[in-house]
Amino acid sequence: MVSTPRRRFLNTLGGQAAVAAAASAGSGWLWAAQAASNTVKPGTDAALIVVDVQNCFVTGGTLPVKDGEQVVPVINALAPKFKNIVVTQDWHTKGHASFASAHAGKKPFENVMLKYGQQVLWPDHCVQGTDDAALHKDLNLPSAQLVIRKGYNPGVDSYSAFMEADRKTATGLAGYLKARGIKTVFVSGLATDFCVGWTAMDARKAGFKVYVIEDACRAIDLNGSLAAAWKAMAKAGCKRVQSADIA
Ligand SMILES: [Zn+2]
Repeated sequence: MVSTPRRRFLNTLGGQAAVAAAASAGSGWLWAAQAASNTVKPGTDAALIVVDVQNCFVTGGTLPVKDGEQVVPVINALAPKFKNIVVTQDWHTKGHASFASAHAGKKPFENVMLKYGQQVLWPDHCVQGTDDAALHKDLNLPSAQLVIRKGYNPGVDSYSAFMEADRKTATGLAGYLKARGIKTVFVSGLATDFCVGWTAMDARKAGFKVYVIEDACRAIDLNGSLAAAWKAMAKAGCKRVQSADIA
């Protein structure tokens, strides 16, 4: 039988390479040492950020991320390991500038140039106060301390929970976390290649140590955006971990 730490390490390596490595390494002691080095224990100065786990981004929503609802049990299981939890909500006005419907002749997933630069256009989603914008009903985070909403300026999108798409307007999240002595953030939610990725990279810019929990996220993957996002996150110094790595 494969022990839990060993299975965890196999999972992080994945597939044939792991099997080959196991055959050559042999010793259970070595596996235990390697597995232990992957484990991260969130301290009292760490916060879990749960990005946009809303009805709009899961099956049946207006902008569904494939298998988006699968992050819910993973995040629920992670929550007790964190003293500090922050939840975000995409929270748009009706007719928001990021909606294709707001631009004559444009369709969802096309691009448009807005005042602050290139903007991907989306179907209408997460309109303030609608059921579509509500948090997923199975998300169980009773200890969460802050819900921060973003994308509420009619002309400016905000993938990031820290900084709007004009790259000038702060949401206030960095100030909140710093005022509470938070130094490390763990990012989870939807979608890896947009709101999670931008949040993680902006957290680095704001001076936080950042872990992105891969299996607690799902992606949209629009024209290779997932691979590009992981590359950019790595370059920014974000560490990629699995939920099983978190003690
Ligand atoms: Zn949005």
